[in-house]
Amino acid sequence: MSNFEGIVPALAAALEKRGYAELTPVQKAVLAPELGQADALVSAQTGSGKTVAFGLAMAPTLLGGVERFTHAAAPLALAVAPTRELALQVTRELEWLYELTGAAIASCVGGMDMRTERRALERGAHIVVGTPGRLRDHIARHSLDMSALKAVVLDEADEMLDLGFREDLEFILDAAPAERRTLMFSATVPRSIATLAQGYQRNAVRISAAGEEKQHLDIEYRALSVAPADRENAIINVLRYYEAKNALVFCNTRAAVNHLTARFNNRNFSVVALSGELSQNERSHALQAMRDGRAKVCIATDVAARGIDLPNLELVVHADLPTNPETLLHRSGRTGRAGRKGVSALIVPNSARRRTERLLQSAGLKATWASPPSADDVLRRDDERILADPAFEEPVNEDERGFVDTLLEKHGAERVAAAFVRMCRSSRSAPEDLLDVAPFTPSGEKFARRDEQPSRRDDFGASVWFSLSVGRRQNAEPRWLIPMLCRTGGITKREIGAIKMQPEETFVQISADWADRFLAAIGPDRKLQNNIVVKRLEGTPDLSRAGYQPPRPDKKPHRGKGAFDPNAPKPKFEKRAAPAGQRDAGASEAKPWAKKAGKPKFETSGSPKHKKSKKRPA
Ligand code: ADP
Ligand code: MG
Repeated sequence: MSNFEGIVPALAAALEKRGYAELTPVQKAVLAPELGQADALVSAQTGSGKTVAFGLAMAPTLLGGVERFTHAAAPLALAVAPTRELALQVTRELEWLYELTGAAIASCVGGMDMRTERRALERGAHIVVGTPGRLRDHIARHSLDMSALKAVVLDEADEMLDLGFREDLEFILDAAPAERRTLMFSATVPRSIATLAQGYQRNAVRISAAGEEKQHLDIEYRALSVAPADRENAIINVLRYYEAKNALVFCNTRAAVNHLTARFNNRNFSVVALSGELSQNERSHALQAMRDGRAKVCIATDVAARGIDLPNLELVVHADLPTNPETLLHRSGRTGRAGRKGVSALIVPNSARRRTERLLQSAGLKATWASPPSADDVLRRDDERILADPAFEEPVNEDERGFVDTLLEKHGAERVAAAFVRMCRSSRSAPEDLLDVAPFTPSGEKFARRDEQPSRRDDFGASVWFSLSVGRRQNAEPRWLIPMLCRTGGITKREIGAIKMQPEETFVQISADWADRFLAAIGPDRKLQNNIVVKRLEGTPDLSRAGYQPPRPDKKPHRGKGAFDPNAPKPKFEKRAAPAGQRDAGASEAKPWAKKAGKPKFETSGSPKHKKSKKRPA
């Protein structure tokens, strides 16, 4: 109990029941005796628990010393949030927090039936939560009685101004009694917020619960360089690698959301979409599916996902790069909430690396540049997960005993284990083979990070060239040729050098040490799958006739570069199978999580010259 000192008992009990061990810094800050019943302008990073913070802060004001609310008449408190989802989220949060006070909580949000809301308001509510436009409508139609309000909360105030709700907010605040308390919560306090606060708050206490530079300490940023054609494959591998309970994938357009949703659905991911074109019902349904585990991946546009709180959100993927640092922070702030850890992965096509570097810099973030998890990384991670499965800790129980013995007798431990492994693997969607891209070293760093593999073709050494009987016209692509060569030729990617695509054939450079073994493995008919014929060449192929310059020795040859057509349709016989141990994205490294943010700091805006609301007494 001592952790929740100074909290109205009914709310302290609710926190306890909810299993909260301790308050977050911003929650402690709003309960500090210095604040008393004063107005407050509070900034704290996303995910720091601001909702519970204002729930706690306004409780003494609303309850006025009693334990429980009496029957509801005109509302005592109004909380305004930028979007429907956020308003409903706040409603849910206040519902459990105020459960033992007997509070009636009503929500008024765009997209819901106004008559239903009106009836709820008529029945009486202690607390009303809503979006600016809809609240304004209710006030204008006299269905929301503002006369008894003791507190008004603006939640995510910066987002509300960003979304153009200034006028609505002013309308609402002007309609509230002058004697109310005004609490403003915001992730950031730009000038526009400070101005709004000055106009509508009195002697407000300014609380900032964490310095900007300490933002997002619980989020690990990874910038993953990909070939442009590999963007979606990289996302698939990232999703597979982390297997997050909840993951949020951001796109810049609704069309992109629809496209990815369809693609991932086909790949057996349990996905939902969140974009502006859905009805309120569909959106609520999508979020509910994420919360109760029916869906693991949510694909969303920025507007649709503003402020969304999914407690199990462990992974944010930027499928399309954010266009500004604020969006990057907002998106990423959906994870790493309330002290939990999260990963924010940026999918960076080669051409966007510098831009991404600048984006990270202006957001004040440090990211690890790496390759996306390879197919091997994903499979290795799957195995680790199987090995660590707590199911192995459980003893055989009596119901199972008989059948377990039968299985072992009939098939033996080895084959039972093999069947088990196959069943585990078949339930998961196969990871994708990705093209190697040259490692990226952010400026200011002398060396590539350890988890980026050095270019392995600098020292490719003696080699033999082979010709394959498919070329660009047959949609040959390194991404399926390489696995095929490895599989059939008994070699690994390491033994393959440059690949030069021609219209009707492809030249492949193979390490001289392996050339004979490669041919032997292919067999006497010299054929790969799909009747692709392999021929050994003498010397270097004559690339000039096809307009190609042979790779200059001082230039790193890059596999498939220039010859790879990202728009070519995929061949039907493409398959995933890569030799083990070829690439290490390093994504499995232990993460040194940074320490929690420091103590909140207080300052009173004692400035006598602050402007007051027209309706407020001097
Ligand atoms: P913010 O509005 O600051 O972005 P939220 O209010 O949405 O953050 O809170 C983020 C998450 O943290 C929510 O799931 C909330 O239930 C949880 N949370 C809030 N306070 C605590 C606490 N004291 N202990 C544990 N979890 C908390
Ligand atoms: Mg919030």
